[in-house]
Formats: sequence, structure tokens, C-alpha cells
Amino acid sequence: MFIPKRVIFEKGSLDYEVGENIYNKFKGKEGIKIINLSSNKVKQNIPGDNLYDFYREGKNTLVVGVKKGFKFQSCKPSAHYQLPLVSGCIGQCQYCYLNTNLGDKPYIKVNANVDDILKEAQKYINERLPQTTIFEGSATSDPVPVEPYTNILKKSIEFFGNSDKGKFRFVTKFNDVDTLLDAKHNGNTEIRFTINTDRVINEYENKTAPINKRIEASVKVAKAGYKVGYIIAPVFLYEGWKEDYKKLLLDLNSKLPQDLEYPVSFEIISHRYTTRAKNIILEVFPETTLPMVDEERKYKYGQFGYGKFVYNKEELQDMKEFFTEQIENIFRDKVILYII
Ligand code: SF4
Repeated sequence: MFIPKRVIFEKGSLDYEVGENIYNKFKGKEGIKIINLSSNKVKQNIPGDNLYDFYREGKNTLVVGVKKGFKFQSCKPSAHYQLPLVSGCIGQCQYCYLNTNLGDKPYIKVNANVDDILKEAQKYINERLPQTTIFEGSATSDPVPVEPYTNILKKSIEFFGNSDKGKFRFVTKFNDVDTLLDAKHNGNTEIRFTINTDRVINEYENKTAPINKRIEASVKVAKAGYKVGYIIAPVFLYEGWKEDYKKLLLDLNSKLPQDLEYPVSFEIISHRYTTRAKNIILEVFPETTLPMVDEERKYKYGQFGYGKFVYNKEELQDMKEFFTEQIENIFRDKVILYII
């Protein structure tokens, strides 16, 4: 569970139950500064003159806001729309896409008007009837570490649990799932966990939950009847990667109950980076050992004009064969969605 150094309440956020609950949770606690804004100038209340310091202070900051303007962003291919409950993340993964996309907002922000957001989601569901509409709750965030005191995932899960044509999914690298176990989800929510080898987690995924905690949390939600999936990402092809990833898969399988209601899904994504991301990473993590030597990678042109450095064709082929074979052999009831 995330305990921030400062909690910033934007104007109006305390008028909502979520805002009030967060306030009651942290008021008067030693070492936690409560800031009530009369305007919405969040950044001025986070110390740090440069990206390096601002990032670290921002990651210790919880902002409570009110979502205004309800045009939901699309979220292809994983879902139809993003559900804008939370943005940002308390984790400090060195390779994180948020460093590039939300670099000026490293803090985690919770939107307190969850009922309004869900009401809007209903409109989107109605528009697409009779088709099913899927909402992604973690497109620009990891909402799980703040869930024990926001309860916004639980509320959303129960909203979709009551829906005939709306589904919900989110992904996490954390384990604060206990308050979700008794939610009435009706099979309409899928919870995915991003997992990786100990080496990758220890080296690059600062401030996230260790692998055994993530797996333990995934087993808990699977036993509570949720659909469960695993994203193995980013896959790094370091010396000895096959042994480590095989060990990870065997370990996962040994802990998963064998009588799950749904097959477990796998999505596997190899490491890639853009030049822009690399430059930001080097500024925030000057000591990083992330493998980002352009000459060792293949440049793949992207559809929006900026390309990515990916592993070369042979390496990717080897990786695909490895994961396909291992997952097929190790897991009983599974589906591989993609390996890229
Ligand atoms: Fe980014 Fe996910 Fe790591 Fe959070 S847990 S820092 S969202 S990669």
C-alpha cells in the first residue's frame, strides 16, 4: 500500500467520498503533509528543480482530483476505452513508458468523482450496444497500490459486475488486492499481473512488489473467480535468460490452482525503446544498466513517425519459439495472446 509523503487535494475533491476517505486516512499522520489547493497548481507544491529530483518527489506524492471533461481516450488493441480513474504510478521502473508520456507528472493522481466516471462509461456502453465494450483501468497508471484506501477499483468492478455489456480489465505489478477479493465481479473483470525474472525486477523495477508477492496476489484473485492473465514484459535477452524465464514459468505454474474457472492468458513483450525514452531515462537514471545500445538493435519504423529499437529478427524468433514451447508444455489451461 502506498503511503505518500504529501497528499495534494485539488479544488472540489474533498466533496466526494473518495476524497474524504483519503483525507481521513492521512490527516494528522506523522511525516505526511496535507495540502489543500484553492487552484489546481499541483506542480508548484512538489519540490525539485530538475527532472531527477522532481521525479523522486513526484513519486512520493498523491494527488486527489476531480475528472472534468469526459471524452474517454480509445485504448486499442487491449480495450475499447481507457477508464480514467487513476493516472501515474508509485513504481520507479527504469524503462517505464510513463517516463516518456507523463514525465512532467510523475505523481499518482486519483480522480475522486468515480460515480461520474462510471456514469459516463455507461453512455459509452449504450452507444455500442448490442456489442460488448471493454474498459482498461490501467492505461496510464497502476491503480492497485492506492486501492486499499480509494476503493475505486472495487466500485468499478462491481459496476461492471452488474453490466451485461461492459467489461473491465487492468494490469499491475503490485499486490494490494485483498479488498477486491469479495467484490461482486460476475466474471466481467480481468486482472493481469506483469511478471519478470528476479534479475530484471531487482535491477530495473524499483519500488514495485517482488515476484513472489505478485504471484501470491494473482493466485488470490484467481481463487476469487477473476479471470487472470500474465504479461511477461519487458523480456530482456541477457545471458542465461532462458533458464531464468523457465524458472519463472515453472514457479508460477506450481503456485497456480489447477482448477481455475478460466484459462490463464499470456502476453509477452520484448524490450524496446525509442530515442526519446532513452534520453529521458538517462536523465532520471544516469546509472542505468538498461541495454540501450542502438547498434545492437534493429530500428523499426513506427506508424506515428518515431521508430523503436527492438531486438533483431533472429533473437525475436528464438524468443517466440522459447515462450511458445515452454508455456505449451508447462501450463494446462492457458492461452497465448501474443508474443512480440
Ligand atoms: Fe511504470 Fe508499470 Fe513500473 Fe508503474 S509499475 S513505474 S506503470 S512500468
